[in-house]
Amino acid sequence: TIGMIALDAHGNLSGACTTSGMAYKLHGRVGDSPIIGAGLYVDNEVGAATATGHGEEIIRVVGSHLVVEQMRHGKSPQEACEAAVKLILQKFKLRGRDFSTTQIGFIALNKAGEYGSYCLQKGFNFAVLDQKKGSRLIDAGHLV
Ligand code: ASP
Repeated sequence: TIGMIALDAHGNLSGACTTSGMAYKLHGRVGDSPIIGAGLYVDNEVGAATATGHGEEIIRVVGSHLVVEQMRHGKSPQEACEAAVKLILQKFKLRGRDFSTTQIGFIALNKAGEYGSYCLQKGFNFAVLDQKKGSRLIDAGHLV
């Protein structure tokens, strides 16, 4: 997935998300990326979030919407991403499923320009472009 979220000079948030889907997917499979709320969600009063990884798990919790709603209720973008990944892991465990080969990752941005990211397994990074501070590549924190 390529997910992008942005805050412009006027303070407006936007986002975009695209994917080739999962390897060896069934014909006709729809992942999270084209589903607003799952792979991408933007609320211009609060923040924006986008997801990557195993779409079925992200859809199950309407992941990007969940992240934005966590920010609406006071969490930082980082805390909101962590809360969403933790909920997904909790649901995995409740179903008795093995999550060792599953990846889930979120990035989030709020109206103040603060951002965060978190993923389930090590190995997810993202790029930040800040017109004042320049650009950099950041390794997302991971839960397991
Ligand atoms: N989220 C995508 C999907 O499930 C896969 C990806 O991250 O590229 O279709």
